[in-house]
Amino acid sequence: MRHYPAMTERVSGAGLKKLRGDLLEWFDRHRRELPWRASRDPYRVWIAEVMLQQTRIAAVIPYYERFLARFPDVTALARAPEREVLKLWSGLGYYSRARNLHAAAEKIVAEHGGIFPRELGAALDLPGIGVYTAAAVLSIAYDVPLAVLDGNVARVLSRIGAVRGELRASENWTALQETADEYLVASRAGDWNQALMELGEVCCTPKSPTCLVCPVVHECRAYALGLTGEIPEPRRKRATVTVRIAAAVLVDPAGRTLLVRDPGAHDDVVFSRMWQFPAVAVKRNARDELLEHLRGTLGVDASLRLEKLAVAKHGVTFRDITLEPFLVRVEELPKVARTRVLALGKLGVVPVSGATRKIAERAGVVLGVTGAAKLKKAKRDPSARERASG
Ligand code: SF4
Repeated sequence: MRHYPAMTERVSGAGLKKLRGDLLEWFDRHRRELPWRASRDPYRVWIAEVMLQQTRIAAVIPYYERFLARFPDVTALARAPEREVLKLWSGLGYYSRARNLHAAAEKIVAEHGGIFPRELGAALDLPGIGVYTAAAVLSIAYDVPLAVLDGNVARVLSRIGAVRGELRASENWTALQETADEYLVASRAGDWNQALMELGEVCCTPKSPTCLVCPVVHECRAYALGLTGEIPEPRRKRATVTVRIAAAVLVDPAGRTLLVRDPGAHDDVVFSRMWQFPAVAVKRNARDELLEHLRGTLGVDASLRLEKLAVAKHGVTFRDITLEPFLVRVEELPKVARTRVLALGKLGVVPVSGATRKIAERAGVVLGVTGAAKLKKAKRDPSARERASG
């Protein structure tokens, strides 16, 4: 890495005036038509902001449209059973987002008359709403003068100011938030925030930014210094943790299988506390440990034969998960509380995670069952909207 000056001064005075004017003018002309931009309804803005966390726009659009068709307002969402919300979320991942949306909708109806609160403190009190999401919703829906800072905005600001160092380091992030606050156009807070985000998504991209058509190229210090390829510095990666999960696809002669909600330590990471096949984290021997788990939790016969299925890989953040599924043919499925019995080809009728789909797919291949993993997982966008708290 080349050496270059420490963070330069923020753009100010006439330069800042030009920066603001150029970016807003560009946004007014080139803003993309996206479904959540059709209105400033805070409910719609909120749903979109939550769905867009770590997920690409193209992947979000069909989920957003289905979700809004079923839950057109906050009251409809609050009244729905959580399982229905999770079902519509199935495939988007990070399911705590859906649970929090539902809980927040209930709170908005109970405490705010069904209207997303305008005050920052009240917004931050809602489940799943962090600083980023609150600033995004309040600025876009109500023009509250709050500046957003997410991965896209941080990249744009770091290039404009030629900021060195890792952006996520707390002192850098704090400095970037202060820069974002200073640059904010208070009278058009929502448009300004969206313009910065949009610039990061379509022009000031992580690799190969298109500087020659960038509306703020004249104010960009990274461009002037020839450092756009080196700023921001790559994020240091957390060490990968490997995890093995053995799962049992029990199947009866009618082709039905059994799903559980198993509150094990790995569940929230791998299965997101959704309906899943009985599973256990493996320490040594997958077959023995899974059989022991099935005996202990479902009371199955210890002499059952476990047929090994093809292994599947599943990555969740820094975890490298190996799924080791087994097919277990039984005369009768165990009758135990908090389980569900359904045809292997109909898993899509209940909320299941991507890991469960992969396991079902492996069993479906052996049993000749199609549709065992019908719903595809939405693609993540590692560069965009990575704020975790929202
Ligand atoms: S000139 Fe290039 S690096 Fe600078 S803000 Fe525009 S796209 Fe990003």
